[in-house]
This record gives sequence, C-alpha cells and structure tokens, in this order.
Amino acid sequence: MALLTKRINSVKPSATITISAKAMELRAKGIDVISLSQGEPDFDTPKHIKDVAIQAINDGKTKYTPVDGTPEIKEAIINKFKRDNNLDYSPENILVSTGAKQTLFNLFQSVLEEGSEAIIISPYWVSYPDMVILAGAKPIIVDTLQKNNFDLDLDHLRDALSDKTRLIVLNSPSNPTGVTFTRKQYQGMGNILKDYPNVLIATDDMYEHIYWGNEKFCSFAEACPGLFDRTITINGVSKAYAMTGWRIGYCGGPSDVVKAMKKIQGQSTSNASSISQVAATAALNGPHDEVISMVKEYKNRHEYLCEALNSLAGFNAVPGTGAFYLFPNINGAIESLGMNDDLEFSEYLLENAGVAVVPGTAFGAKGYIRISYATSMVALEEAISRIKKVLE
Ligand code: PMP
Ligand code: GLU
Repeated sequence: MALLTKRINSVKPSATITISAKAMELRAKGIDVISLSQGEPDFDTPKHIKDVAIQAINDGKTKYTPVDGTPEIKEAIINKFKRDNNLDYSPENILVSTGAKQTLFNLFQSVLEEGSEAIIISPYWVSYPDMVILAGAKPIIVDTLQKNNFDLDLDHLRDALSDKTRLIVLNSPSNPTGVTFTRKQYQGMGNILKDYPNVLIATDDMYEHIYWGNEKFCSFAEACPGLFDRTITINGVSKAYAMTGWRIGYCGGPSDVVKAMKKIQGQSTSNASSISQVAATAALNGPHDEVISMVKEYKNRHEYLCEALNSLAGFNAVPGTGAFYLFPNINGAIESLGMNDDLEFSEYLLENAGVAVVPGTAFGAKGYIRISYATSMVALEEAISRIKKVLE
C-alpha cells in the first residue's frame, strides 16, 4: 500500500498471534479446534493476586505512576533479582513495561540503528527478528541443531560477531524448543563476548520459573559476572504467574541503557497499568505455591507429550527442561504425506484434524512445528489421537 512506510512493509505479523487468532475464530464459528498454538498458560491468575488488584481499584490506585514503575514494584523486582538470580540492581537499573514484549521493543529501539546488527539464535521466538528490523538494524541468525540439543556452536557465534554487532539476544528456557542453557554454556558464550566490548547481551528469562532441569536455573549475568554491566536481564509475570493479560514485563540493566528505554516509553505509552503493577508486585513477593503446582502440571504434560510425539510416524522431538513447548522435527511426516513444508503440514493439521500448531518456519526452523502444552491433558490426548489418524 502506497501510504505505508518501507519499515512497516519489511516486517510480518506475529505468527503465534495470527494462528492463535485463527483457531479462536474457527472455534467461535462452532468448528471443533484444539489450539496447541497458544503461548499462554491455561491456568487462571492465582486468587491472592486478583484480590490485591481488586483492592487497588477500590483504593483509587487508578492514576498515572512513574513511567518506569512504582517504587513498590521496583523494590519487588530488585528483591526478585537478588533472591532468584543473585543479581544486585538499584532502582535506576529497573524499568517496568507493558509486557516483556515492550521491554524488548524499547531496548532494540534504544541500542540498534541503521547499519548495526543483532545476533539472534534460531529457533527463535517469532518477534525478535521483526523487532530488530523495526529498529532499522539487521538480524544475524545463528542456527542451532536438534541433533546437538539446540546447543549454540561457539564457532558459529564467533563467525556471526562483527564490528557492526550491537546486541545478542538469548532466550532460556527457549520458546520454541523448551531447551535451557546451563551456566557452563553461558560461560562459554561469555568467554567470547568479553572480547567484544560494544556488544550488549539481552537475556530473555520469561520462562525462568517454568523449569525442571537438574541444575538450578542460571541467568546469563549470574553465569558471567564480568559482563553484568553489558547485560539486560528481561523477565515478566505473564508466564510464571499466568498473567498474560495483565501486561507486566520488566528488566534490570545498565542505568544508561535503562534510561534510554524509559525515554522511549515516556514518549510512547508511559507507565504500565497502575493496577497491574500492584498485582505484579504481589505476584513477585509471593506466595509461590501455585506457581510450583502449575509447573508440576506442565512437567507432567511434557512427559506425556514428548513420548506421544515420538511415537508418531515421521515425528522426532527432543525433551525440553522448561517453558511449555515442544518443537518436533516433522520432516518424515511431511515427506510421507508428499507435502512441501511445515507451513503446508500445519495448514493440513488445522483443516483435517482440527489441531492448531505453529509452523517451525515462523521460528526460523523449516521442517518443525511448535506445540504448546499450555492446555489440558485431555485436550493433548485428543490432539495426539487426531494427529495420529490423519498421519495414517
Ligand atoms: N519472550 C518470550 C520468549 C515469549 O515467549 C514471550 C511471550 N509473549 C515474551 C517474551 C513476551 O511476553 P509478555 O509480553 O507477555 O511479557
Ligand atoms: N509468546 C507467546 C507465543 O509465543 C504469546 C504470543 C506472542 O506474543 O507472540 O505464543
């Protein structure tokens, strides 16, 4: 369209949102669709969090707050970073935004520009490359392989770094693979990145609490204290506390970067919702027993689904240690059905099995699909039986 900018024409809509919306639309029409495309907990927000938010409305906490967040939520975030990640931040290092999506967007707008590059590891969360492009920069994709458990090959990282690199984005546990970087893996990356003083590290820890690896979860800045001053640690309440609709994300990072991000937020959306900030403060300050029971349920589903997927002809999934996604390779199934790719396969599943999944291509990995198990075990079992039927 002639009236639109080149910039907007250079990005695509979010595939995860598009497919989930399509599944919802079909359901509204009365078509029986099981949505395994949604990247959102099926659980409700814990009651103690909702109660605090209702109280906040009644107490008149309905006004603008400081752009970067109330003193109370900042304190809760500082305590969270100390408690969970052994990271020391002060209020000027913290920014609260309307979802971690906005945190990432503010960051990319602050540190990327025309002529600069950002390294993204594939399979990646769908929004990273497009957000980089919206900031005028070039995404440099470094592929990881399923046969290596999606571990990052450090030689590939070295090859991708250049004097144009301004940022690397790391996401662990990963959306879409469910795989988590260990302290040792992060230290390997840190050893290389320490020689690139102009590169910032963004770590997206959104799924930190939805994790069942053997080793304690380790955030990048905790693994590489020498790079603390160049790391922006991103997190939010959407996934762990089943609070996607409340829209609260946050980060801890170097004060000059955080100040720049705050400037962008102050000229665009201002503070995140005052009521949601009160709710998120309660979420971060605990209790956490409901988080623990949700994670237990995700882990059970993961166990079931991983085995079930691997029993399907032409499917091959590696187990994850977190988030609520599995990312099976489906090349065998594509081939035996005589199809071209995962896009065609996903469409076929939706139309013939009434099962919505996101094609791997959207995550930079052809021949895969992302399956979200943030849905009931009954729905998962039914989905598997439907997929089995259409594969036969
Ligand atoms: N990062 C990752 C990896 C995600 O999956 C999501 C989910 N939307 C986000 C960031 C953003 O989450 P939110 O904006 O809901 O905080
Ligand atoms: N992060 C979720 C997903 O990957 C929510 C949708 C989105 O924001 O992309 O499905």
